[in-house]
Amino acid sequence: MVKRVLIIGAGISGLAAGCYACMNGYDVEIHESHTQPGGLCTSWQRAEYTIDGCIHWLTGSRPGNGYYRIWEELGAVQGRGMYDHDVYASMVGRDGRTVHLYADADRLEEHLTSLSPADTAPIAAFCKKIRKLARFPYPIGKPPELMGRWDGLRTLARYLPYLKDLTELGGLSLAEYATRFSDPLLRKAIANVLLDGSLPTVALLMTLAIMNQRTAGYPLGGSLAFARAIERRFLDLGGRIVYRSPVDQIAERQGRVAGVRLADGSQVPADYVIAACDMRATLFTLLDGSRVDPVHRELLETGKTYPPGVLVSFGVDADLSDEISCLGTYHELEQPIQLAGIAQEFFSLHNYSHDPSLAPPHKTVAGCLIPTRWSHWEPLLGDRAAYEAEKARVAESCLQLADRFRPGFAAKVQVTDVATPHTFARYTGNWQGTYMTYMLSGEFQRKYRYIPKVVPGVDGLYLASMWTNPPGGIPGAATAGREVAQLLCHRDRQRFVATTP
Ligand SMILES: Cc1cc2nc3c(=O)[nH]c(=O)nc-3n(C[C@H](O)[C@H](O)[C@H](O)COP(=O)(O)OP(=O)(O)OC[C@H]3O[C@@H](n4cnc5c(N)ncnc54)[C@H](O)[C@@H]3O)c2cc1C
Repeated sequence: MVKRVLIIGAGISGLAAGCYACMNGYDVEIHESHTQPGGLCTSWQRAEYTIDGCIHWLTGSRPGNGYYRIWEELGAVQGRGMYDHDVYASMVGRDGRTVHLYADADRLEEHLTSLSPADTAPIAAFCKKIRKLARFPYPIGKPPELMGRWDGLRTLARYLPYLKDLTELGGLSLAEYATRFSDPLLRKAIANVLLDGSLPTVALLMTLAIMNQRTAGYPLGGSLAFARAIERRFLDLGGRIVYRSPVDQIAERQGRVAGVRLADGSQVPADYVIAACDMRATLFTLLDGSRVDPVHRELLETGKTYPPGVLVSFGVDADLSDEISCLGTYHELEQPIQLAGIAQEFFSLHNYSHDPSLAPPHKTVAGCLIPTRWSHWEPLLGDRAAYEAEKARVAESCLQLADRFRPGFAAKVQVTDVATPHTFARYTGNWQGTYMTYMLSGEFQRKYRYIPKVVPGVDGLYLASMWTNPPGGIPGAATAGREVAQLLCHRDRQRFVATTP
């Protein structure tokens, strides 16, 4: 008899889990709170502008990176243009100089060395690491739960050449790494380009490495179009999605999952339930909080998450395509300014003129993702007026800064949109509006080989979301969905198959 799988959430992880479960003969239904697919991977309309709320770069946007295979299987890349930025980010210092973090490692080395000849040696070492990590294999295979001794050895052999670098760079913050350079602007650029100097250096180097490989493009059409392509694939495979259908409880019977209860009180039976949504909400709200794996508990209690952000976007009646194409131009401020609860030393503007589908001809969407703290927004949640006033204040400050660095900008702005961590939390149910997940410490990774995708005492329930595959992102979410489908097949003693449309 065909087994019935119920998935909670139509974000990228839920859609991916659904596609792979359908490919393997399961009868699949997704229940999604919202009216459309994508979860965090979304875009929205403001007048004639499309605000993109997610993908800056897609790991595996082209062949040559393991994730490409997943995007092909999910039907997300076929016929979709990818835009590769020549520069990851530009940092404009107070002294008027600009550091361009070129995607091409050779060009980057030449540029940085001409900017700071005294740093020739650390620049060469930095670029050498990028070239080396560009060869990192990103193998897509079995989930760690199903790896036997031979799989483990094979994986180790693949990773071995990178192990030392990954361990060293994973344990070194960007702020620490930046001290290797003597040039003050170069130091600041490296320490601040990811907006948080405490992030591990490996995060920046891996990003530059995939950009160097041209496998970190931006999918033209934006994030919602990308999610809709996977939704199409799921429906074509015979899956069903019920929108406006929040799940409020995971139903159990004698230690086994029985289905879910929806917010309208109706029950939906299932053989398996895949929670492709926030991990904390699954364990403590959809379940009663009494069954928590020790690894999950340690993560939830002590794990450090990526800082949340405020996304301020503008629809501008101007063609900004003359600006250098990059993921953000960061301007060092004369004085740090207090914005969104954090003393901001840089202001960055990212313009989307590389995607003409987001704005009418000769107009542009531009925006900034400002690091913030949940604690800044939390006290405002009960006071709508105060919350709206703070959003307006943040937007006005960003507008003034954008106008300072690009005179005439403010006069051309037709639309302003502000999405806070509260917006992301309300829209997707993710804890404290987090949009990436944990920065796992080296110690945690040595202690635990992987994050379990099952819950003790609730047989047949699986967890598949960015939270089970840190640090998250679209690839982590899609991989989580694929891996859970592999676990179902293994349990039902059937060979896992993945097809390409
Ligand atoms: C501003 C921003 C920029 C980003 N940039 C990038 C980038 O450049 N590259 C990249 O790879 N990633 C990026 N990300 C991260 C990426 O979007 C996420 O990590 C990923 O989309 C998470 O997918 P998910 O399916 O795990 O979770 P989600 O997207 O959160 O999906 C969960 C879904 O479950 C639904 N749901 C929750 N609870 C329930 C319930 N009880 N009942 C029914 N439905 C429920 C939610 O409505 C949601 O649709 C960015 C995110 C943001 C916000």
